Amino acid sequence: MKPASLVEFVRDIYQTDDFIPLHAPTFNGSEQKYVQETIESTFVSSVGKFVDQFEQNIEAYTGTQKAVATVNGTAALHAALYMAGVQRGDFVITQALTFVATCNALHHMGAEPIFVDVSPVSLGLCPKAMDEFLTEHCQVVESGCIHKKTQRPVRAVVPMHTFGHPVELDELLAVCQKWNIALVEDAAESLGSFYKGKHTGTFGDFGAVSFNGNKIITTGGGGMVLCRTQELGARTKHITTTAKVPHPYEFYHDEAGFNYRMPNLNAALGCAQMEVLDQYLAQKRVLANRYHSFFENSDFQFVVEPEYAQSNYWLNALICPSAEARDELLKQTNDSGVMTRPIWQLMHRLPMFKDVPRGDLTQSEHIEAHLINLPSSPVLLEK
Ligand SMILES: *Cc1c(COP(=O)(O)O)cnc(C)c1O
Repeated sequence: MKPASLVEFVRDIYQTDDFIPLHAPTFNGSEQKYVQETIESTFVSSVGKFVDQFEQNIEAYTGTQKAVATVNGTAALHAALYMAGVQRGDFVITQALTFVATCNALHHMGAEPIFVDVSPVSLGLCPKAMDEFLTEHCQVVESGCIHKKTQRPVRAVVPMHTFGHPVELDELLAVCQKWNIALVEDAAESLGSFYKGKHTGTFGDFGAVSFNGNKIITTGGGGMVLCRTQELGARTKHITTTAKVPHPYEFYHDEAGFNYRMPNLNAALGCAQMEVLDQYLAQKRVLANRYHSFFENSDFQFVVEPEYAQSNYWLNALICPSAEARDELLKQTNDSGVMTRPIWQLMHRLPMFKDVPRGDLTQSEHIEAHLINLPSSPVLLEK
């Protein structure tokens, strides 16, 4: 496979000679109408019918008991970790192969990450690697799981469904149960992805979704906490909306809350985008299939959904045969106006997370050196 033939292939798909971005939003539905309606109503800010509507849409779509809209995905994750009981000084297990927001959110809780490897099947947190780390370094005591050397609690695990491919959740839940560790899913990239028929982000007590501009659907900026029960949902709503106790006019707040509410203006965009989500998913599946056949007889390996899952194919990904081949492909495609990107640098290479405990990261390092993301915007594909 020559870089030039990939450029030609992508240009043929998108039918343009212009710059082709990695993932661009499209607004061909009710977006203008709902946003206009919001402006005319003057309810552009923290209350309004679209916030409630959007939360209900997400509940119906994901099958979660209660969804709580937030200002962005990082805020959703922060609130989820707060609700899961993460405390200052705790450890939270996650993957080194993730976007920095995963680690920032737990850092803001005063917790520190422990990095374990990812699975080559899902590109997300590997349950076996987690179990191995725990077996070597941790023990379960009455209060829960502790890291033996520091005696600090290992409170939660945050797997991330990389590019929309669900992690091995049955196995992960078994490890969580064995070690008494809470599961909080970073489902920022996986709206529309299902594990054995159940939506990602609904397996632990809490999951977090993002509606940033580059995600599968967008609210400009926005996020959602998926909560396992009505009760947990009500508390999550309370703490993300300044913890105000309802009263016709009195201001009384019963704890130090967050102002993480999503503005009604953004929720209006979200309601319109939910109407086209299924269409985007279908288009992205066709696109992924075309990439898959394009690379079939080459030494480049297109990343396909795990057999247990239905992925949203948010960002298409390719494993190159060597780091040199990857660098060459990155350069040639970007020079030709076709946007491709390497994966994030591993979290333990960043200054703020360089000294945290970690397990063997062989898979993560391999993927870091060999993977590139390909243009993935949903497109109308007639061919
Ligand atoms: C996008 C993303 C987030 C955060 O979302 P924002 O809405 O940008 O705050 C968190 N984790 C991962 C893995 C993401 O890709």
